[in-house]
Amino acid sequence: MSAKVNLLDFDRKSMEAFFVSRGEKAFRATQVIKWIHQLGVTHFDAMTNLSKSLRAWLHEEAEIVIPDIVLEQQSADGTIKWLLRVDDGNSIEMVYIPEANRGTLCVSSQVGCALDCSFCSTAQQGFNRNLSTAEIISQLHIAIRRLSDKLGHDAFGKKRVVSNVVLMGMGEPLLNFNSVVKALNLMLEDNAYGLSKRRVTLSTAGVVPALDRLGEVSDVSLAVSLHAPYNSLRDKLVPLNKKYPIEVLLPACRRYIAGQAHRSVTFEYVMLDGVNDLPKQARDLAKLLRDMPAKINLIPFNPFPGSVYARSSDAAISKFCEILAAQGLTVITRRPRGDDIDAACGQLAGKVVDKTKRLQKKEHVLQFSFQ
Ligand code: SAH
Repeated sequence: MSAKVNLLDFDRKSMEAFFVSRGEKAFRATQVIKWIHQLGVTHFDAMTNLSKSLRAWLHEEAEIVIPDIVLEQQSADGTIKWLLRVDDGNSIEMVYIPEANRGTLCVSSQVGCALDCSFCSTAQQGFNRNLSTAEIISQLHIAIRRLSDKLGHDAFGKKRVVSNVVLMGMGEPLLNFNSVVKALNLMLEDNAYGLSKRRVTLSTAGVVPALDRLGEVSDVSLAVSLHAPYNSLRDKLVPLNKKYPIEVLLPACRRYIAGQAHRSVTFEYVMLDGVNDLPKQARDLAKLLRDMPAKINLIPFNPFPGSVYARSSDAAISKFCEILAAQGLTVITRRPRGDDIDAACGQLAGKVVDKTKRLQKKEHVLQFSFQ
């Protein structure tokens, strides 16, 4: 382990504390943040508004370390997926989704995931560790650098290239609270990426206490992975529901948006054939969300090796959508993007050294049931 601090781990406040602790003025933090995040500069010697002695001190005490790209794949629809190496054993994935009027980067917050949602590919891999702030914000830095290379011009500071960020990659962001919040601060920080809070979305399976804390320190947009209109089904799809059931989760969503004008919560709902896509379930869902400022995002299930579910038919999805819309709800069906390179929702896998020994446990259960 290096004894140097990685400057990518600092948001503005913690960067200010770092400079003040060595007797420097706090505004040095803003200068360095601009160099790194707005201009894409990663060498201290290029930071020409810092004195020589300050640069020499930074060389001694600090570094700017960004994960390496292991693999870059581009889908026929323009979606790009990167595999990033975060340490000797582990790699994570992130995805860029270009659209006519925006570019969305889907970033990971953990190496693997501990929540074990039965329809998600990341869950199959178990969990290794939380990502640091540096590893989370690096994803944005790397994507902009690579997109600059592809576009043939510098994309740093150009908001249209990566105009939106969604924390919908590998991991449960609210179980990596401190690092995620610092990374969110950098995404919103004017001197860093300057994204509007409406264009940064945190997606959670519903870790209620952490959601309440998030509401105290941030006001990014919220997406909640609901997937079922009642507890008995949600318990099976999202086991975290046993801890924070729907009647606890929905009031927390309300608290999150309380006092924020014109805000709503996006509820994600993966469409699983014959499991949660029946007309009666659409009516139950509409009833459940009746008084909630909500948008519903229907996500056709994306299969992965070993998955036990099938994608709902187009007819079932249309019918489900119609029922919700007829009840006055705003519904969007998410078109699968990048599925030819396994970059669609729930297909992100990376390479995870599983500390939870999930695979071994599963094998054990399988052996047991076959004996
Ligand atoms: N842990 C967070 C963020 C990661 S998942 C959360 O649960 O929200 C991002 C979204 O993709 C979630 O809504 C998740 O439920 C959905 N998803 C997971 N696996 C999927 C699959 N195989 N097909 C379609 N969507 C999936």
